[in-house]
Amino acid sequence: MFLFENTLKQISNAARVMSADSDLIKILSCPQRKIEVNIPIKMEDGTLKIFQGFRVQHNNFLGPYKGGIRYHEQVDMDEVIALSAWMTLKCAVVGIPLGGGKGGIIVNPKLLSESELEKLTRKYIDLIAPVIGPETDVPAPDVNTNSKIMAWIADEYSKLAGKDAKGVVTGKPLEAGGSKGRDSATAQGGVYVLNKYANEIGLKPSETRVIIQGFGNAGGIVAKLLEDIGYNIVGVSDSQGGIFCDSGINTSELMQCKKGEGTVKGCTLRENITHLKDDAKCEVVTNEGILEKECDILVLAALENQITGKNADNIKAKIILELANGPVTPEADEILNKKGIVAIPDILANAGGVTVSYFEMLQNAGNNYWSSEDVAVKLKDTMTKAWEEVSANAKKYGCNLRVAAFVTAIERIQGKFLQQGKS
Ligand code: NAD
Repeated sequence: MFLFENTLKQISNAARVMSADSDLIKILSCPQRKIEVNIPIKMEDGTLKIFQGFRVQHNNFLGPYKGGIRYHEQVDMDEVIALSAWMTLKCAVVGIPLGGGKGGIIVNPKLLSESELEKLTRKYIDLIAPVIGPETDVPAPDVNTNSKIMAWIADEYSKLAGKDAKGVVTGKPLEAGGSKGRDSATAQGGVYVLNKYANEIGLKPSETRVIIQGFGNAGGIVAKLLEDIGYNIVGVSDSQGGIFCDSGINTSELMQCKKGEGTVKGCTLRENITHLKDDAKCEVVTNEGILEKECDILVLAALENQITGKNADNIKAKIILELANGPVTPEADEILNKKGIVAIPDILANAGGVTVSYFEMLQNAGNNYWSSEDVAVKLKDTMTKAWEEVSANAKKYGCNLRVAAFVTAIERIQGKFLQQGKS
């Protein structure tokens, strides 16, 4: 099944509940613009390789298109369309004046040297430069892209524009005009929302066991933040597999170890990885297996389509926090609902990243930089308000949090759509 079909199903589930304007739903069901580029790169071994890249601009009713760039072997146009549509809805849920976009290149960046990666990034920007810009479409990091890559983008675009145009991209290093708190924003936003829900249901962190799928930017940071609050992290995985330690994982040590070993499972036998050193019981688990282990909260921070109709029935967690985009399919959602498992949906749970990206745009435009404390306060306010709106809609419409989040987003876009005229 194509990923964008999942998005369309989610949109239509919400539209049904809220009786949305049917013209708007038709408009949201297709992206406004899709671009495909072929990027020739002279590799260091002298061969010429052509890489395929994409940029999709889904909708800009609320503001400039906004969304990350993914470097991955499995990226394709369908995936980028789905991700761009989720960006439209995500920005609307948290009430920031931005639309949805997304980009990607089919590449495994780990197989490229740094200078090949830089060349690829700069040429991709040369090709999509006519349609991006600080006031039109603003990319950001996503899977396998980082602040260094964003700095190359800002530099390349500024050269083409003949002026400082660093606002063309967010997620930049601080020295290149980035915002404080951007690296941790996705994870931190998810934690703010989870805290609200945990308070509502009286969850005690010290009695709560957490498994985290994906130990990258979002997953690695959320592990540390949750551990600091007192949650017991019992399982962690990355693309090569996972570890499950029933006595709890010291996630800072694990991150340190992963930097050396390269993988999470390479750290299984390290003594200091578990909190109870004398009673270390860690086992290597497969990527599929870790999702089905006993825990209270399962954080999904890797890729889409991780919980599907095939494995949803085996999930034992009571709460799922979706830091990844689209990790639960609509088919799985129905099964999880029946089992009483609560999913805090992606377009709400991971919206902290784009929220601080928006703060970065404001800081770049005003040439006025905020303290970490200011960013944290504003992020918390935004996420708390979004949680309260989604939670109220769940009660009002008697629906789950995913449908409520989509309703909240569509209501906001609909307000603008009806006000500005239909065609
Ligand atoms: P990342 O590349 O830093 O990390 C991804 C991690 O997932 C890596 O550790 C990788 O090894 C792991 N992984 C891949 N396949 C896996 C599998 N099958 N099982 C377990 N682990 C696996 O990327 P990221 O920026 O942390 O993004 C992760 C997810 O969060 C993506 O879905 C992304 O779209 C979403 N997201 C990220 C941001 C952000 O600001 N970075 C914002 C919103 C949403």
